[in-house]
Amino acid sequence: MNNRIYLSSPHMGGQEQSFVNEAFDTNWVAPLGPNVTGFEQDLEHYLKEPRHVAALSSGTGALHLALIMMDVGRGDEVICQSMTFSASANPIVYQGATPIFVDSEEDTWNMCPIHLEEAIKDRISKGKKPKAIIAVHLYGMPFKAEEICSISEKYEIPLLEDSAEALGSTYKGKHCGTFGDMAVLSFNGNKIITTSGGGALVTKTEEEKVKAIFLATQARDAAPHYQHSEIGYNYRLSNICAGIGRGQMRVLDDHVNLRREMNYFYKEIFKSVDGIEVFTEPGTDYFSNHWLTCILIDSSKTGFTAEDIRLSLEEKNIESRPLWKPMHLQPVFKDYPFYGNHIAGELFDNGLCLPSGSNLKNTEKQRIMEALSKFL
Ligand SMILES: *Cc1c(COP(=O)(O)O)cnc(C)c1O
Repeated sequence: MNNRIYLSSPHMGGQEQSFVNEAFDTNWVAPLGPNVTGFEQDLEHYLKEPRHVAALSSGTGALHLALIMMDVGRGDEVICQSMTFSASANPIVYQGATPIFVDSEEDTWNMCPIHLEEAIKDRISKGKKPKAIIAVHLYGMPFKAEEICSISEKYEIPLLEDSAEALGSTYKGKHCGTFGDMAVLSFNGNKIITTSGGGALVTKTEEEKVKAIFLATQARDAAPHYQHSEIGYNYRLSNICAGIGRGQMRVLDDHVNLRREMNYFYKEIFKSVDGIEVFTEPGTDYFSNHWLTCILIDSSKTGFTAEDIRLSLEEKNIESRPLWKPMHLQPVFKDYPFYGNHIAGELFDNGLCLPSGSNLKNTEKQRIMEALSKFL
């Protein structure tokens, strides 16, 4: 049996180990140290806009801290894109708040501005103004940033930008991670760069960054003994993991280019197939890192389904996977309000994520191409 080809696996650039060794040599084996600070600076520099970055133990932790800092608590409502990974929505429930799910639009597969506004108006008319909006750049595709930001401003509801999948993507030349009042990045093992596990909170002010680090390090007051006037968390990134991150930042743009080449690779394979569409940017304002390349299958034209392709790739030990199952269709979230129609549900029914790693070798691409050609 051939080696398994994964959707997205860690891809080291070569310099990671030297930052990790430095941490060992200087005994900075702790959730703070020069790599943590250096990694934060690298990210701040990369995002270009004046932003501040707090390195954390996960993207989920970053979302949780952002909601705390946006004062989301028991009984509050938070609007969230339905089509996403559960980590976007779980922290709403950690805070005892209620998620209000909103459908996608067809261009970017992300939050539909029309249904967003409809949801806001309806929640306000029911007596409760949502405390925050969580919009996601799915698969690296920027959401309709202009529309979403202007609705957030119009109703004065802060925007929490889930950019976990979109480091390296831009909209009108501006980096994803700089559109929200706060934004979240992830460095989990499957993301475009990894620290083995990790995340970051992006803030607009230094004070917010300081506050996030304070909360992430058990909310210790300034005193020689352990004193606390607030509930704290243990969410800081390890200096070892941050060392991996510093090495990965050296190759981030290469990874973006390689993932974009994978998108092109699939466009070539499917270009003459009627009924299969490779997900791509809806216009030149959008630049996706193409973290994962996805296809949509119109089975009335092809005569086969996404699941048929998945099973046939699986036989060749090639991983592929349905798109994120929308939150409003998840057993755990099904009783929460949802605004929209069937866009997210139809994407889930007809979409498939294909192997998209920046580390796929030519022989592996050959295997994928042959498996797909044979199937088609
Ligand atoms: C990966 C991911 C997260 C969570 O990040 P972790 O670092 O794994 O906790 C959140 N939102 C989206 C959209 C993700 O893909």
